[in-house]
Amino acid sequence: MTQRQKPGARQHSPANRLGLDYRAVPPRKLSGPVIDAHTHIHHIDHAPLFFEVAEAYGVERVLSMSPVQQVEPLRRAYADRISFIAVPRWHEFALTPAFRRQWLDDLREFRQHGARLCKFWSAPPLRGELGLTLEHDFFQPVIQQALELGYEFMVHIGDPRLWWRPGGRYADTTRFGTRRDQYEQLAWFLETVAPRRVIGAHLAGSVEAPRFLQSLLDRYQHLWLDCSATKWIVREVARRPAAARELIIRNHERILFGTDLVTESGYDFDHYASRYWAHLKLWETPYRGESPIADPDAAKPPQLCGIDLPAEILRSLYRDNAARFGL
Ligand SMILES: [Zn+2]
Repeated sequence: MTQRQKPGARQHSPANRLGLDYRAVPPRKLSGPVIDAHTHIHHIDHAPLFFEVAEAYGVERVLSMSPVQQVEPLRRAYADRISFIAVPRWHEFALTPAFRRQWLDDLREFRQHGARLCKFWSAPPLRGELGLTLEHDFFQPVIQQALELGYEFMVHIGDPRLWWRPGGRYADTTRFGTRRDQYEQLAWFLETVAPRRVIGAHLAGSVEAPRFLQSLLDRYQHLWLDCSATKWIVREVARRPAAARELIIRNHERILFGTDLVTESGYDFDHYASRYWAHLKLWETPYRGESPIADPDAAKPPQLCGIDLPAEILRSLYRDNAARFGL
């Protein structure tokens, strides 16, 4: 609250632009535990508040892309509530043999801690800034070692389509490639690691193109999806709710629930809760109205359009698919 505000005046945070009471969890369509298959718990110090919110929203267990140094303390404190997805030390990323050796060591360590998934982030900046896609020689020993260690995969390909529009961050397609260019590496990767399964994070980066997504799913039976990235998914489902609903129902046995929640020391209860609240409304209810989360890429005001999935579909997304995947 700024000093200029009168007593009683409320300035709502970007996570709660409607001034909701997120502690009053809306009624759920499906009871029982939820598994959030896509989170980033960066530090043990962030975990108590994060897990308090997760518990309030029925989330029993999360898969987290935590730094390898945080795995041991998180496991000790939250053994039955957290599993890990192997990630490199991105903040130290360098195209050097030393970085790659560390990555290979970390893959082994994550595996010893029970990680089943190895994540590759290959969004357009990797190409635009370092000239890399997954086919690049630099990644081959990592992919090979992940296969030898028995990993399956999660990949981040693409980004919101809006970011390619004129003036957008990827408008220079000579550097970043077109949106469709991003998918050559996905096809290559799927063919290289088959029959190991590959989870395309954020609806494989193509919530904007349900028909394209369906063609990928039809062609590659080992491609799975997660529905994480709250603002992006909420914004784009609101533009095509019927197509999104049809896609999810048709492919419900290969879609995992996830939020892409990232922990930071400054985040409060409302920040974490806003993502679970929005996903609950999006998947479980016919809510039509404003999204409580500020979104600079969205129409003004941002809209949330619930697609009211049937309970048996929710059960697949929320828990059965994670069990089928062995996560
Ligand atoms: Zn993520």
